[in-house]
Amino acid sequence: MKKVTTINPATEEEIASYDRLSASNALEKIAKANETYKSWKNTSFEERSNLMSKLADIFDDHKEEYAQLATQEMGKMIGQSRSEIEKCAKICRYYADNIHELLADEPIKTEAKKSYVTYQPLGVLLAVMPWNFPFYQVIRFAAPAVMTGNTGVLKHASNVQGCAFALEDAFKKAGFPEGVFTNLNVESDDIKTIIEDKNIIAVTLTGSEPAGRSVAKIAGENLKKTVLELGGSDAYIILEDADLEKATDLATFGRLQNNGQTCIAAKRFIVLEEIFDDFLELFTKKMKEAKMAEPTNEDAYYGPMARVDLRDEIHEQVEKTIKEGGKLILGGKIPNQKGAYYPATILADLKPGMTAFDEELFGPVASVIKAKNEEEAIKLANNSTFGLGSGVVTGDSKRGEKIALQLEAGNSFVNKLVASDPRLPFGGIKNSGYGRELSDFGIKEFVNTKSIWID
Ligand code: NDP
Repeated sequence: MKKVTTINPATEEEIASYDRLSASNALEKIAKANETYKSWKNTSFEERSNLMSKLADIFDDHKEEYAQLATQEMGKMIGQSRSEIEKCAKICRYYADNIHELLADEPIKTEAKKSYVTYQPLGVLLAVMPWNFPFYQVIRFAAPAVMTGNTGVLKHASNVQGCAFALEDAFKKAGFPEGVFTNLNVESDDIKTIIEDKNIIAVTLTGSEPAGRSVAKIAGENLKKTVLELGGSDAYIILEDADLEKATDLATFGRLQNNGQTCIAAKRFIVLEEIFDDFLELFTKKMKEAKMAEPTNEDAYYGPMARVDLRDEIHEQVEKTIKEGGKLILGGKIPNQKGAYYPATILADLKPGMTAFDEELFGPVASVIKAKNEEEAIKLANNSTFGLGSGVVTGDSKRGEKIALQLEAGNSFVNKLVASDPRLPFGGIKNSGYGRELSDFGIKEFVNTKSIWID
């Protein structure tokens, strides 16, 4: 039997081995999820809310255990792992508390005696999920899906299988019937067979562009809906009236949080020329001072990347950018130590066409770009194949709002790092994907929006 072994990226030591599920065994589990769906869809909102509230309590009660697991498997700083588990509890409570409102029937005035729109569940959803927020990304899909009456199966990233099984166990502990949420420890190669299975009705994926394209293609051929969240190269415009202390604090945390591996991390800093040198000097100082250490070190700012191959990949992108004419201001060298560590790195003098400008840099590497004026800054920000998040830092929030409205992205924040919030829709445009998660927009991605007419 094939196995998948998880590896601690801080030490490169093995953590555990898990038996891979064969495609045929996966189909059996999906059939069970479909059987469960047939009764689950008839449960009341109250019943589902009670269980979802219990799931939130499970996250609270097991916070330390789950946080340690995430930290071990993908290297997240322990404090940030704890926050991730807290966020999971928050999402569960949001959907438990608001489901009546979110999925309420909507009366529509027509010539009928009665006409309205109602939202019904669809069946078994497949979620293909990444390692960077191993609990949160899954709950972001699973909480709304389960509250609508759908059931879900998870193909999680191979390097976080411990988290995947912990999530399945959390649903069980909360009292959900077997088959409401199931972990499928399958290989990516089996995803085609799974998507083609008649019991899978739709797919949601968070991950890289190639994974998204591949899954969307198979789903498209099978006429199954997809929601894709594929990362980005978020631009933050720093205007000349910005408070530099605030702007550089935001830039440092924005680039180093989750050890640089967040889809909505601040990646390209587009700075107006009046303040460019001052910004770069202060930003470099703060990035240099940020302490890199093992992820269990509570005093450290950032730690290792999730895998050695991902670290090597970002180093290649840095070297390529330097060859293309980019200037290395800080970092840029693989440290001589065990673990997938990469130092806080800054690249400047960047232009469209260079690797660090065009591609997503999924690690602690900041791209700093000079703009002559506001107009050019907006042009540079929008000169990207991605469109997930974006930001403006300014002393004038009205001016910031005007710019935010012109940025080509699914989320544009003024004087704040882009962050997801269950009350607001989350997702991207262009190659960052399509569809929305969270809020009422997210919950309505996987429902049958049904018109009822009574004459
Ligand atoms: P992937 O996109 O390869 O992995 C994400 C998930 O998709 C995993 O569950 C993976 O499984 C699965 N997967 C990968 N390829 C396929 C496929 N062809 N068909 C079906 N499922 C697939 O991310 P990586 O871990 O390789 O990271 C590479 C890059 O992806 C990063 O550097 C970053 O740019 C981007 N990324 C973006 C994220 C985001 O939040 N938007 C999150 C993570 C990565 P398995 O692990 O078994 O391969």
